[in-house]
Amino acid sequence: RLAEIGVTGLAVMGRNLARNFARHGHRVAIHNRTYAKTQSLIDDHGDDGTFVPSESMADFVASLERPRRVLIMVKAGAGTDAVIEELIPLLEEGDIVIDAGNAHFPDTIRRENYLKEKGLHFVGTGVSGGEEGALNGPSIMPGGSRESYESLGPLLENISAKVDDTPCCTYVGPDGAGHFVKMVHNGIEYADMQLIAEAYDLIRQGTGKSAAEIADIFRSWNEGDLESFLIEITAEVLAHVDAETGQALVDVILDQAEQKGTGRWTVQNALDLGVPITGIAEATFARALSGGVPQREAARGVLPAHTADWAIDDGDAFVEDVRQALYASKVVAYSQGFDQIAAASAEFGWDIDRGAMARIWRGGCIIRARFLNRITEAYERTPDLALLIADPYFTEAISAALPAWRRVVVAAAEHGIPTPAFSSSLAYYDGVRADRLPAALIQGQRDFFGAHTYRRVDKPGTFHTEWSLDRSETQISGGEA
Ligand code: NDP
Repeated sequence: RLAEIGVTGLAVMGRNLARNFARHGHRVAIHNRTYAKTQSLIDDHGDDGTFVPSESMADFVASLERPRRVLIMVKAGAGTDAVIEELIPLLEEGDIVIDAGNAHFPDTIRRENYLKEKGLHFVGTGVSGGEEGALNGPSIMPGGSRESYESLGPLLENISAKVDDTPCCTYVGPDGAGHFVKMVHNGIEYADMQLIAEAYDLIRQGTGKSAAEIADIFRSWNEGDLESFLIEITAEVLAHVDAETGQALVDVILDQAEQKGTGRWTVQNALDLGVPITGIAEATFARALSGGVPQREAARGVLPAHTADWAIDDGDAFVEDVRQALYASKVVAYSQGFDQIAAASAEFGWDIDRGAMARIWRGGCIIRARFLNRITEAYERTPDLALLIADPYFTEAISAALPAWRRVVVAAAEHGIPTPAFSSSLAYYDGVRADRLPAALIQGQRDFFGAHTYRRVDKPGTFHTEWSLDRSETQISGGEA
């Protein structure tokens, strides 16, 4: 009997996805460039289900039922292209090639076009949840043609995480849509992590509580609206004691955050689309700042703080303020991420259902969280919702948190605690809700130095003031209507 699906690339992720398919009763063809990995999967986990191992790519492809479903899980970039080239001569019209690696979505668009010319389906799919998710149920975000989803979707839904019996996998949209959504997911993950880190820093510096005490605070937060995987693991990390020094591990870890690049892609794309994802951008830059060793050395002990000693009278009240500020900032970060998805969906013609994205992020992935249910409900109420935080549920939630949010940002500024994500989220909130913005002045400046023109509040058309002449105003276009 032929295998239902094949997995090529059996490092941690591919190995675990293959095992996940096998455990769900699917016959899985397996292949890896270096055969030793294939053999070790059989040796260590052969009893997970039915594996059909092959040494050569040709045998691997031949072991699959048609239309063939070949899932590639190799090092993203050149590795993926190399495997695709190897596969093309072996495949036949209608076969489906799935790239489950962390591809950049423009590469996915390119690959989908390329394979379409050869009569093949190409499905770029986001997979989130790391090693553990790949084995026990990830969140899966597949793009590509609808037709390919009909054949592939049921298998992916089978192995995905489930929340209330609903699979954390759904068809996202054509070509690059799946990898795009995974990219924004990772961007939101950056913002979420930064916000949690700022909350920790504020409590630590503001109240002098130990890492272990703050672990307990995060544990209690995980009982409420903030319940999420990231809050849960934050408590675990903070509670962990370093075996060598006996100190909290967080105190001996070097404070330089690294990144693999998906946050950077998210920000770069947001700049292209002109979408203000300030929370994600600040989180990405905060990592860059932490890693800017020469700059930090030049500043340390030189740049004054001019802050008063920080004495919090009521530690519990402050902690509660921070909790509320975290919730409000987090909602803003998600709202911005969903704006980016909407903008890209319009730009690339993907027709992405944002409520469905929130639904498939409820389980399996790194940003899984209780409040994603509320996001899905908001988009169900209003599918074309222009701004997530303008949905009545979130408007009310943020309104309740607003006084605390402002107090926290003020306290941080007064006491020199860097809170780029908290502060920029609040600035975004105040910006987006403002009746009038000083952008009017910017338009005036642009018209002054570059004759870029401006529009007026009281009549249609575009106008220019003769700044260097008599300062009279000329109508440049429109306005007859
Ligand atoms: P790696 O990214 O470390 O890639 C190693 C695998 O790629 C090996 O199977 C290797 O084969 C194969 N490979 C590399 N170059 C080539 C090539 N030119 N031709 C054929 N095979 C090649 O593996 P991971 O399992 O960590 O990740 C796989 C993919 O999943 C990546 O795209 C990653 O970004 C993505 N991902 C990873 C997550 C994680 O938590 N690790 C989470 C979500 C996605 P060989 O054994 O012969 O060297």
